Amino acid sequence: MKTDLDVRATGTHKVVNQPPPLVDYNLFSTDRVLAGALEREGAAWAAGRLDDFGRLTGTEEAIRWGFQANENPPVLRTHDRFGNRIDEVEFHPAWHALMRLSIEHGLASLPWTEPKQGAHVARAALMLLASENEAGHTCPVSMTYAVVPALRKQPELAREWEPHIHKLSYDPRARPVAEKSGALMGMAMTEKQGGSDVRANTTLAEVTSDGSYALTGHKWFCSAPMCDAFLVLAQALGGLTCFVVPRWTPDGERNAFHLQRLKSKLGNRSNASSEVEFDEAWARRVGEEGRGVATIIDMVQHTRLDCVIGSASLMRQALVQALHHARHRKAFGRLLVDQPLMQNVLADLALESEAATVLMMRLARAFDGREADAGERGFARLGTAAAKYWVSKRGPAQVNEALECLGGNGFVEESILPRLYREAPLNSIWEGSGNVICLDILRAMTKEPEAVDSVLEEIRLARGSDRRFDAFTKILEKDLTEPVGELEARLLAERLALALQASLLIRHSIQAVADVFCGSRLSDEGGRAYGTLPPSTDFRAILNRAYEA
Ligand SMILES: Cc1cc2nc3c(=O)[nH]c(=O)nc-3n(C[C@H](O)[C@H](O)[C@H](O)COP(=O)(O)OP(=O)(O)OC[C@H]3O[C@@H](n4cnc5c(N)ncnc54)[C@H](O)[C@@H]3O)c2cc1C
Repeated sequence: MKTDLDVRATGTHKVVNQPPPLVDYNLFSTDRVLAGALEREGAAWAAGRLDDFGRLTGTEEAIRWGFQANENPPVLRTHDRFGNRIDEVEFHPAWHALMRLSIEHGLASLPWTEPKQGAHVARAALMLLASENEAGHTCPVSMTYAVVPALRKQPELAREWEPHIHKLSYDPRARPVAEKSGALMGMAMTEKQGGSDVRANTTLAEVTSDGSYALTGHKWFCSAPMCDAFLVLAQALGGLTCFVVPRWTPDGERNAFHLQRLKSKLGNRSNASSEVEFDEAWARRVGEEGRGVATIIDMVQHTRLDCVIGSASLMRQALVQALHHARHRKAFGRLLVDQPLMQNVLADLALESEAATVLMMRLARAFDGREADAGERGFARLGTAAAKYWVSKRGPAQVNEALECLGGNGFVEESILPRLYREAPLNSIWEGSGNVICLDILRAMTKEPEAVDSVLEEIRLARGSDRRFDAFTKILEKDLTEPVGELEARLLAERLALALQASLLIRHSIQAVADVFCGSRLSDEGGRAYGTLPPSTDFRAILNRAYEA
């Protein structure tokens, strides 16, 4: 009898038992958790936009751009052929295509151009989809979105720059902004001697006769250096101060913004991260002298939200890839998705992804409400820090486990999993590394105790529904009322984030998800690796919910 496995019957190269390519699918309509959160958190009005964007980001073409942009990383061009400094970065056309898609769909501008209920929520959901497809290009998109609240501390600069950065048009040309159809902004704080401790910055800012400043110094990390302007921290007479440094001076000359080299990075390869030196670069002050950190912190707060979104997106994409593979690949006579132990792994990955998504969307709602509502402001302050710490810490392990669901295929670049895996650690490094975020939580608890009340209020909404949740939050409340030292800051951050995630899942997910999340994350009903949920878990319910193919 000749079978499919008989090589004489099939020839040497008949491909069997490999999944179909995962292309031309809708990233939004297949994500029930995201769609539910969009509606719940106040952005039901954006469902149509998300559906369009989910379809576009899932096309074979957009997925190909993601691969091409990473296989062809940016190249630094310091000089032109005649020896003139140009300090430009050259990108593959696929990068430009990705940037165009995100900018034209308002990912850098929506909450500022359409400031209505749910605007940050809608934009967060759009970012999740964009970053699922390709994470690197979301860096300049994120910074351009995040710069606005900081810029508004100097209203005349906000009036000057906002019209450019809010245009739904991507213009990659290195030209003065007045000649362009759209603009991007970045930030440069980190120096060689330190990134967390920005107060140790040495870049010097000297005021000039017309009230502008000349900046001299270096920055050790400056991502997306082809942006049109940057918020930069430098030491003025009055202390550390925030400045806008454009790439071109008002008289149409290139600013003294000299790119030294591009970093060779673990991941995030489509994006350029540079070292830059300022040689009396032309700059304008944002906020008061000496208030640099206080000024730029509003930008950092928004990019921290994007770190949560970024990690949630990597986990979501990894989960979808793992589920797709398991639903098509057989081993030992059964589809992987029907193998009990694989079900356990996949369900555990789905829990982690859902918990990240619901928390990120709730946080985005707090960004919508933070101007008008002190409670939401407090929630955004403390909740973002806790989520940034915990969700980005969970990313690498979750992506690693998803990668293993594909076996050897997951270790191969074409599967996208290696790219997700290399990207995953980044969100816990930039915009405040893990420890620094945990120390920031302690600071917020002391300086803004009302933020603790806001977070506790949200957590308590699920009280009385699950005994493990109640016991866990009792310990947390004690930690939050009695002073906790630095040594315990990580544990506190973890508990805060887990309690928030559990509270949201209890109220908004299906019983199967909430129950097993509380059991495995808040008590000892699970092991330390993924795939250790108890046998009583309703695996089918969790997997059916996770991804609708
Ligand atoms: C790909 C990439 C792109 C980046 N892009 C930009 C950019 O565009 N603009 C920009 O300004 N920066 C950028 N950065 C820099 C980034 O923000 C910094 O690397 C980060 O803030 C950490 O600073 P550092 O590297 O100087 O580490 P350090 O400050 O030296 O910290 C090293 C470690 O020590 C820990 N640590 C620090 N202080 C304490 C403490 N008191 N107690 C306990 N532990 C502590 C930190 O958590 C960290 O784990 C980028 C970084 C990367 C990797």
